[in-house]
Amino acid sequence: MSLEENFRRVEPYVPGEQPAETNVVKLNTNENPYPPSPLVQKALTGLSLQELRRYPDPEAGRLREALAESYGVEKERIFVGVGSDDVLSMAFLTFFHGKAPVLFPEITYSFYDVWASLYEIPFKKIPLTESFKLDAEAFMQTNGGVVFPNPNAPTGVLESLDTVEKIAAGNPDVVVIVDEAYIDFGGESALPLLDRYENLLIVQTFSKSRALAGMRIGFAFGSKELIRALNDVKFSVNSYTMSRAAIEVGVASLADEAYFKESVEKIVATRERVKKELSALGFVFPDSAANFLFARYTGAADALRSVPAEGTSARRLYEALKRDGVYVRYFASPKLADRLRISIGTDREMDVLLERLRAHLP
Ligand SMILES: *Cc1c(COP(=O)(O)O)cnc(C)c1O
Repeated sequence: MSLEENFRRVEPYVPGEQPAETNVVKLNTNENPYPPSPLVQKALTGLSLQELRRYPDPEAGRLREALAESYGVEKERIFVGVGSDDVLSMAFLTFFHGKAPVLFPEITYSFYDVWASLYEIPFKKIPLTESFKLDAEAFMQTNGGVVFPNPNAPTGVLESLDTVEKIAAGNPDVVVIVDEAYIDFGGESALPLLDRYENLLIVQTFSKSRALAGMRIGFAFGSKELIRALNDVKFSVNSYTMSRAAIEVGVASLADEAYFKESVEKIVATRERVKKELSALGFVFPDSAANFLFARYTGAADALRSVPAEGTSARRLYEALKRDGVYVRYFASPKLADRLRISIGTDREMDVLLERLRAHLP
């Protein structure tokens, strides 16, 4: 007998680097380059110490009411959590408890197989098509649930509402989770399908489009039955997930729709410009509807003018850019190793990236 024999073992998710230096160009975790609304600052400043002395509302009623108002969904059909990672983790724990494997895309958010392993959920990865699209037919096989991001990550590829509907309609006896972390950057949300599909759970976050990754606010829309089941599990793990600060900040963010729209539009405009510039430099990428590009360099790796490093041109460029103080995301796994995931920053930040890339390209 050893101490460790009784431990729960899991290979953890590895988040993108958060360098301590502040003078870097950080394009590696899909954060919003613009700060949240000034109303958020006001909400934070307005929190009194007397309020912080007390536990928050375990139902996060004010935040759920504000979401209900903004999205036109009843409060009873909204669940909130500590970022959408918390919401998704609770959803895996609640809804994926069958014997058949849960299905998700082969190339996708790398947290899915971590939660599945942690909770001992059988799972099966479904290959994408050549053009990184979902193969809707392949999601019709026997399964214990379905989860996919739309747009997908790290590809940025958007699926039509038709495809989402086909998958929800084809799987009436299991929960289908659509992870819409990046939907505000150009996609069509599955929200209009909610009334027709009791098995549909739509998960979104304040971390990307609302520039509040540091506050940890995520939410889900579903039928009352799904939300009730999620709440039963949540209240069996931790009643007070959302802090008073997170609840107030979330409400304030939703109150400034104009600011939100403007910052999303700026990011989309920058993304479209950078697509052209990266193509001109010899990069290819699936067309992205998110705030990042999944780019592969088509030139010769050994012609790169960067300090030698092992591996693919993506790996070498990642290392070279990092030395330059420009952080992008590199995934070492075989299917992803020839690509860089580049978050869309401000125009100035993207200019630094492009300038550094030019310096390293032959
Ligand atoms: C960023 C991200 C999330 C989680 O973000 P939170 O900060 O936990 O809300 C979930 N899914 C995908 C696909 C993401 O990229």
